[in-house]
Amino acid sequence: MARKKIIAGNWKMNMTPSQAVELVNTLKPLVANDDVDVVFCVPAIDIVPVVEAAKGSNIQVGAENMYFEEKGAYTGEISAPMLVDAGVKYVILGHSERRDYFKEDDALLNKKVKKAFEAGLTPILCCGETLEQREMGIAVDFIRTQIKSDLVGVSADQVKTMVIAYEPIWAIGTGKTATTEQAEEICKAVRDCIAEVYDQATADAVRVQYGGSVNAGNAAELFAQPDIDGGLVGGASLKPDFGDIVNYKK
Ligand code: PEP
Repeated sequence: MARKKIIAGNWKMNMTPSQAVELVNTLKPLVANDDVDVVFCVPAIDIVPVVEAAKGSNIQVGAENMYFEEKGAYTGEISAPMLVDAGVKYVILGHSERRDYFKEDDALLNKKVKKAFEAGLTPILCCGETLEQREMGIAVDFIRTQIKSDLVGVSADQVKTMVIAYEPIWAIGTGKTATTEQAEEICKAVRDCIAEVYDQATADAVRVQYGGSVNAGNAAELFAQPDIDGGLVGGASLKPDFGDIVNYKK
């Protein structure tokens, strides 16, 4: 069965609540396309107003992070049940900015992935290599280790429903996109890794996105690759261009 493309915006630390509502209202008609899943991953403080503003549209709302504990003395954190109650469907986990600036490691991410599933959220699990790792020829090995570690104890049925985003760190926010061949090569390697750890049916079902300077000009070619099931989009998700990315076929 063909996998439905999923195109998710990662707003990062941008948009105040009022700006967020304005952006949703601007983008709503531009991203109206039921052929793909459209997700806006927004800062925690924007979740409630964005869920409200997106009502009646095809936009699904995601979070950019969460903590693995249910509740309690974890000042500043947000739990999976809080996200679910607010109307969130997806959660980005392991974005390279969180791995790098906030020192999130695979052991922590494994707990977060399991908690997200337990709560009924769909994780968008990010993986990706640095430029140095690519130049050393260890990109695939590194990504395979990330995926295997982050998915310890996660079942095949769960993996079938999740999203894995391949995001080469050197292409994020730099304007440098991986070539279509580079992006396809690693997205295929991600799928092969899932087939190896689980089985072919799981690998055929899991959706693998490419992320890293996706824009209206390169989306169509990237998303036409057999193992690329859409994109995780940073900068361009804050602009009307996001509508062109969602409608990459037109
Ligand atoms: C991202 O933040 O996940 C990302 C891919 O950013 P950009 O599209 O700006 O490179």
